[in-house]
Amino acid sequence: MEDRNTFIVRCGEVALKGLNKPYFERMLVDRIKRALKKFDGIEVKRKEGLIFVKAPAALDQDEIVGEISRVFGVASISPAVEVDSDMEEIGKAAVEFMLRLIEKKGVKTFKVDAKRADKSFPVKSPDIARNIGAQVLIGCKVLKVDVHNPDCLLFVDVRRDKSYIYEQKISGFGGLPLGTNGKGMILLSGGIDSPVAAWMMAKRGMLIEAVHFHSYPYTSERAQEKVVDLAKIVAGYCSRFKMHTINLLPIQELIVQNCPEEETTILVRRFMMKIAEKVARETDCCMLITGENLGQVASQTAEALVVTDHSVQIPVMRPLIALDKVDIMDIAKNIGTYETSILPYEDCCTVFLPKHPTTKPKLEKILESESRLDVEQLVNEAVASKETITVYPDYR
Ligand code: ATP
Ligand code: MG
Repeated sequence: MEDRNTFIVRCGEVALKGLNKPYFERMLVDRIKRALKKFDGIEVKRKEGLIFVKAPAALDQDEIVGEISRVFGVASISPAVEVDSDMEEIGKAAVEFMLRLIEKKGVKTFKVDAKRADKSFPVKSPDIARNIGAQVLIGCKVLKVDVHNPDCLLFVDVRRDKSYIYEQKISGFGGLPLGTNGKGMILLSGGIDSPVAAWMMAKRGMLIEAVHFHSYPYTSERAQEKVVDLAKIVAGYCSRFKMHTINLLPIQELIVQNCPEEETTILVRRFMMKIAEKVARETDCCMLITGENLGQVASQTAEALVVTDHSVQIPVMRPLIALDKVDIMDIAKNIGTYETSILPYEDCCTVFLPKHPTTKPKLEKILESESRLDVEQLVNEAVASKETITVYPDYR
């Protein structure tokens, strides 16, 4: 056997992409290669509708699986043993494979699940299963067959010149390869929702760029660092991206001085959207993305969302709109942003928070209040003041 480990990677929806399938597969291979760039000696190849990764045996298997499983478009991964498509070779490898499993996991019962992708192979699937099962029983005296509830399901996948033996199918996130669906601008706060919203759109193949608003010195530098920390975790999935930081305080002060108190939040939100729209147009982002969620807070009632939406021409994606908070929190925990999101630092939205924000804003009234400010000039100044950094993945 060669001194390299093989990983079978199954594509999720990519496999359904009809005529565009080769394009999506190429993009997926490219993303897997990038995710594994930090390791030497990796080979990634497409073959017969699957992707095969080969890595030097000295590398940590779990780490490699971890990296591949974060690549969007990957449905599942199986660390496998590759052998020539020959019954004797397969049998020998299956025995070795099971001996290792007995030692590692104390497996006592097994069942063979055989598949023959190469229909010209002379032995049919049920016979492959029987034959390999018998060889394993002879080679591993402690094992018994249990067809109903085996400790280990031993997969034998016979292909044209090579066959594969494995037992695990580790789930990926599915989705589509990054870079297959344009670029969106996420309005990234330090909360639970917006990192999840960014992740969800990236999972559908969208590259992201971010804009974050602060109210320094009312919000601290540490609060900004928290957002960078969150962005780094998101970048672990969607590769490095640019983040623009803008101080919203001058605009917030003008709103407080000139407009009704209960409208502060909605007016601030409209400015955020307008500024983000302008930055998006300058950076080739075709949509905005927010973590808004129907009914979650005063600024996210149906009426408030309509008034917010009306502030921009660019499409606004709200991937969390119909999720319950517990479901959003589950995703945040799963992708690793939750612990950072709940750290208690102030957000610019909480500065100048009105005592009784309006939950049913009327567009005409909001537009009237807004007209007391030189919106275009303020937006232009805010955009001109932006500071841009590149956020790199945080490999913990
Ligand atoms: P989150 O958990 O993402 O902070 P939230 O429930 O606190 O969301 P809001 O504060 O009303 O809700 O914000 C709604 C959305 O507006 C956020 O999900 C985010 O997309 C955007 N947003 C809010 N604050 C900021 C900010 N300081 N900078 C950039 N975008 C923001
Ligand atoms: Mg927030």
